[in-house]
Amino acid sequence: MLNVPSQSFPAPSSQQRVASGGRSKVPLKQGRSLMDWIRLTKSGKDLTGLKGRLIEVTEEELKKHNKKDDCWICIRGFVYNVSPYMEYHPGGEDELMRAAGSDGTDLFDQVHRWVNYESMLKECLVGRMAIKPAVSKGLSHEVEEDISVRVVENVGKIEIVLKKKETTSWKRLGHPLENHNSLIPRKDTGLYYRKCQLISKEGVTHDTKLFCLMLPPSAHLQVPTGQHVYLKLTITGTEIVKPYTPVSDFLLSEFKEPVLLNNKYIYFLIKVYPDGLFTPELDHLQIGDSVSVSNPEGNFKTSQFQELEDLFLLAAGTGFTPMAKILNYALTNIPSLRKVKLMFFNKTEDDIIWRSQLEKLAFKDKRFDVEFVLSAPTSEWNGKRGHISPALLSEFLKRSLDKSKVLICICGPTPFTEQGIRLLHELNFSKDEIHSFTA
Ligand code: FAD
Ligand code: NAP
Repeated sequence: MLNVPSQSFPAPSSQQRVASGGRSKVPLKQGRSLMDWIRLTKSGKDLTGLKGRLIEVTEEELKKHNKKDDCWICIRGFVYNVSPYMEYHPGGEDELMRAAGSDGTDLFDQVHRWVNYESMLKECLVGRMAIKPAVSKGLSHEVEEDISVRVVENVGKIEIVLKKKETTSWKRLGHPLENHNSLIPRKDTGLYYRKCQLISKEGVTHDTKLFCLMLPPSAHLQVPTGQHVYLKLTITGTEIVKPYTPVSDFLLSEFKEPVLLNNKYIYFLIKVYPDGLFTPELDHLQIGDSVSVSNPEGNFKTSQFQELEDLFLLAAGTGFTPMAKILNYALTNIPSLRKVKLMFFNKTEDDIIWRSQLEKLAFKDKRFDVEFVLSAPTSEWNGKRGHISPALLSEFLKRSLDKSKVLICICGPTPFTEQGIRLLHELNFSKDEIHSFTA
């Protein structure tokens, strides 16, 4: 609300009065006082010419409205049609016209930052500027679309590197955008979906595929280790959402996650169920089609790895997906780690995801071991058989030292996970030593 003083109007300090010094003010015509402006804004007259509609304004569109009788100005991302306000502007029409059809934020900040322009121009609001596919909106000069983000998870530091588009020296950095310098609690942000593009689809096993999605320009999405996102597709007119756990492409590219996470791609290992609701639809997508991807969720924390000595991973089927990143994280970042063991349950040999990569890793890194257990093997299978059981677990879960710090992660079909947790408790592992990935 505008705070209009009642006794003496215009007040001595009012922008209505022609200033004796400082910024020059022009005498306003009869019937063009602040009060008159307020009356006009409350009259219900369509001041924007858009009949109350708010639109998204592109830079090209903004530029077109640069005449006195058709003058749009952008202030901090919001676009106003200031033509009706021209004659009421204490600084005069010429001053407003300096920002016609452009971003007037800087000019506005230099001249009269204190003015409560939001309420003053509320009825002139045309809409918001369309977000440009570059991050440079608040910056004074353009930057390259490719930005790199380095996240140092264990110290909670994020480093963002922006490259100038032109190698000139910048006099100023720019102006802060909405929500600048504010930390918004995760619970208040809600699920935000970005449209990604299907880039490739490769068979990994007979029914599991590696889907590669490309993020939209300038978007950054880093899914923390052990967390999942939701994929959204519209299936016969209804939006369907299912959770999936991204895998880094490190198992494909020699088990090394790049330190600079400037990658635009996100990979998923997904089993296609022919009679399923979501996965056949996903499988039918063509390269270039879009899929919406949410921000990450999940309660796994890498702080669970602190001082960890033995890490045991129990995975069944696609329950392997969270283990892929966990493996990489643990082997790369936890100096105290002595042993990482994966027990991987599947029906048949053909169902084992990334078998050769896992065997190669076990060969290369002496801290890592993998055991495959099959519930429906062929007669040629020499390895372990059956389902998760006390016998299998007690043999597998051997600490490297008597009292070594242990974490056991378990993921797979819900009954598998539930049974596994029961067995682990029977084997005297405590709640803190078990992390289960459940729906
Ligand atoms: P659905 O329609 O759910 O059907 C799946 C199978 O169950 C089909 O064979 C179907 O016939 C059968 N079925 C459906 N309803 C019933 C019923 N009432 N009774 C008996 N059988 C039934 N999957 C992955 O492949 N990769 C991942 O990275 C991954 N991450 C996940 C992360 C989390 C946190 C969770 C909870 C799940 C994850 N999943 C993952 C599983 C995924 O979310 C889907 O459940 C899976 O893809 C199946 O989806 P769908 O709609 O195609 O199949
Ligand atoms: P699957 O191939 O059907 O089964 C994998 C292995 O688990 C098989 O050996 C199977 O034995 C065994 N198994 C199944 N049910 C069992 C039970 N009740 N007790 C003991 N063993 C059992 O598995 P899938 O189709 O890939 O399914 C993977 C599951 O993991 C999905 O339910 C998915 O939702 C879940 N998942 C969860 C997450 C998460 O983060 N929460 C992430 C990824 C995947 P049989 O031969 O007897 O069937």
